[in-house]
Amino acid sequence: MKLNDLNKITEPFQTTDKMPVLFLGHGSPMNAIEENEFVSGFRKVATEIPKPQAILCVSAHWETRGTFVTAMDYPPTIHDFGGFPKELYDVQYPAPGSPALAKKTKAMIKKTDVGLDDKWGLDHGAWSVIKHLYPKADVPVIQMSLDHFQNPQYHFELARELAVLRKKGVLIIGSGNMVHNLRMVAWNKLNEPEYGYDWAYTASDKMKKFISNENFQAVINFRSQGKEFDLAIPTPEHFLPLLYTLALKEGNEKIEFFNDKAVGGSLTMTSVKISQG
Ligand code: ZN
Repeated sequence: MKLNDLNKITEPFQTTDKMPVLFLGHGSPMNAIEENEFVSGFRKVATEIPKPQAILCVSAHWETRGTFVTAMDYPPTIHDFGGFPKELYDVQYPAPGSPALAKKTKAMIKKTDVGLDDKWGLDHGAWSVIKHLYPKADVPVIQMSLDHFQNPQYHFELARELAVLRKKGVLIIGSGNMVHNLRMVAWNKLNEPEYGYDWAYTASDKMKKFISNENFQAVINFRSQGKEFDLAIPTPEHFLPLLYTLALKEGNEKIEFFNDKAVGGSLTMTSVKISQG
């Protein structure tokens, strides 16, 4: 896509029908190049929603002090992982950025002074999943970072300020994993379908119940939900993107789960779509 075309679609941010909001369980970076049911799930969800004019992605893999949005014209594909096959390092996802959307986001958010970043790009939390939704890389993508030093309530409230973008053709995606304990992965069971530890299923079921009942405060208070949640969320960065998605639920919108399966014992790929149904 040429820059001129990009400017046309990101300015002046014409009003659209309200875009759905997604949380995508990204799992292993290998999902970027493997064919599996999760990749099929990502492709399918893209067919169910209007094609966005731009994407704002909050990825588990970009933590900062303060909140930043990527503001470059052409964000580089970042291979932020180690020990994977060369094939994965060869993947490029050349979606353009959207400096206009970055500036608009900065101007909109009152809770903090959002910084414009020109050094990051697209990390695998973003590109490994977005490439399946929009394989032609023809939708501009910006990322918004997670302020490592803020609590879950703060993230939820900050996310609410993004609501107006939904009516400007922007697809907001949280990318993480609801149950994500890498230390406890059963590496020898990775290919066993739906292999999940009891605690992982208990935590996952409780999370989904809270979400379905729109008890988002219980999700925000994940640190008070018992030992299964503590095992599921040893560090918060993969869980917090979910709060960005939930915070944007409005009125009687529908909440649907997809890719709702465990892998390797201690991960779930559970993804969430919020839409007018
Ligand atoms: Zn990850």
